[in-house]
Amino acid sequence: MNRSQTLKKIRRKVKIWDVIIIGGGATGLGIAVDAASRGYKTLLLEQSDFSKGTSSRSTKLVHGGVRYLQQGDIGLVFEALKERGLMFKNAPHLVTNQSFIIPSYEWWGTSFYTVGLKLYDMMAGKLGLGTSMMLSREETIEALPTVQQAGLRGGTIYHDGQFDDARMAISLALTCVDYGGSVLNYCKVTGLIREKEMVAGVTAVDQISGEEFSISAKVVVNATGVFVDDIIKMDDPQAPDTTIPSQGIHLVLGKEFLPNKSAVMVPNTSDGRVMFAVPWHNHIVVGTTDTLVSDRLLEPVALDEEVSFLLTTAGQYLAKQPQKEDVLSVFAGLRPLAKPEEDGRSTKEISRSHRIILSLSGLITITGGKWTTYRKMAEDVVEKVIVMGGLPDRECITDHMPIHGFRMDLDPTTDPMAPYGLDKENILALEEDMPEVQGFLSEKLQIRKSQVIWAVREEMAMTVEDVLARRTRALFLDARESIRLAPEVAELMANELKLDDAWKASQVKEFNEVAAGYLIA
Ligand SMILES: Cc1cc2nc3c(=O)[nH]c(=O)nc-3n(C[C@H](O)[C@H](O)[C@H](O)COP(=O)(O)OP(=O)(O)OC[C@H]3O[C@@H](n4cnc5c(N)ncnc54)[C@H](O)[C@@H]3O)c2cc1C
Repeated sequence: MNRSQTLKKIRRKVKIWDVIIIGGGATGLGIAVDAASRGYKTLLLEQSDFSKGTSSRSTKLVHGGVRYLQQGDIGLVFEALKERGLMFKNAPHLVTNQSFIIPSYEWWGTSFYTVGLKLYDMMAGKLGLGTSMMLSREETIEALPTVQQAGLRGGTIYHDGQFDDARMAISLALTCVDYGGSVLNYCKVTGLIREKEMVAGVTAVDQISGEEFSISAKVVVNATGVFVDDIIKMDDPQAPDTTIPSQGIHLVLGKEFLPNKSAVMVPNTSDGRVMFAVPWHNHIVVGTTDTLVSDRLLEPVALDEEVSFLLTTAGQYLAKQPQKEDVLSVFAGLRPLAKPEEDGRSTKEISRSHRIILSLSGLITITGGKWTTYRKMAEDVVEKVIVMGGLPDRECITDHMPIHGFRMDLDPTTDPMAPYGLDKENILALEEDMPEVQGFLSEKLQIRKSQVIWAVREEMAMTVEDVLARRTRALFLDARESIRLAPEVAELMANELKLDDAWKASQVKEFNEVAAGYLIA
């Protein structure tokens, strides 16, 4: 992942790309990996940083979706369970097997959920992650010592996957590059180029230098999440909206709220949704909400009522009621939900399946979907790219294709460096060559100084925020700690990139402004 080399390729203009993908979230990166691995000349453009949008703000589950089973969306559950299994096999350094317990307070709860989850296990078939089982009250308390015990009758244990979404995104970008594709962050698409009424490329602006580009391609894919309608309107200003944004927030709490390995799943909150409390990087992520919003922002902010709802609901299932001051970080993300044909359906009822829209101009747009199903979404899109671009037909190989860094012997639940996979040793080796980056940047969050250097050299990190929010997860885990780290990260980056004091000062200021949105006042 080398920004200046990619810029050179774009400037040279000799290479007409087979496909340009707009958007560097789960969807776009998945498509870039699929297209590059089939040998097509692939370029991905992201206006901000990779996974800056929704893809760094998920609940971090690689799941079939117990809720979709409740809703009867069997097709989506089958597809997601298969993809869960493939993701687990192809990226064992990034995805772990996570046990979930549904605590039951009704007499019928344990048997009801156990039967449903046995069906979930059966649907996963050979790609299952473990058998669901009924737990007695005592077994539930043993597995979840901090669960609310008053009225508890028992529980059901089941298994799903868990991952680090932003690290997965970077690993996909690296995989794309491993296969000869090109990815570029901070490059915003500003328009579509047309030839004889057909889309034949994009105009784009480097957000760092201001340089403008005109880039030709046989096919252009719009994978911009909640922003897909902006691109569709570049193609056809009269086109109706295809998506609606729905906000989901998460609170991050200290490990003491759920000290054991299992996560908690609440199948029916007071607003009729599910809620999770999941161990993640030695913290607990609690979420989520489903709030229809009108603004499509890159940096959405949690609403007070969403925070209160999660604190209250978590308190009903945990022995200790979490308070606002216990929240280490709060983050919000927007779901690019496919707009339903009929009006009046609540957001929680809208299917999370993906939808591909083919415009008469040849523009391919993909909306909806899940992180878990990114690979299948990409396969479906690239099949369309082949037809639209008249490309030589080549088979998809991503179902059994290892993700960059593939390594089986690292456990992401105990090793903070596990998500780097094979790169872990290279990062640690930096510390031998550069004594000044030996040791921890944050012992509390187990982040090493060498990770900052690696992020700049190998992972296209351009800003302090890139490092603290997405190459490491400091901002998402503990906003205050990340604010404390920002000046040192700026210093390390400035030394590496030969940048001056003014750059450092503006970076720290910009980071602090963003981080303020992750703090609860
Ligand atoms: C609260 C919440 C929890 C979730 N939890 C889970 C979960 O646990 N498991 C799961 O499987 N799924 C989960 N999802 C769903 C999953 O996160 C999303 O489906 C996925 O991240 C969407 O990815 P995307 O690439 O489509 O969108 P995004 O990640 O938003 O990416 C779109 C990108 O396009 C870029 N872009 C926009 N305009 C331009 C332009 N003009 N030029 C260049 N780039 C542009 C944006 O900057 C952005 O980075 C969750 C979603 C939410 C909101």
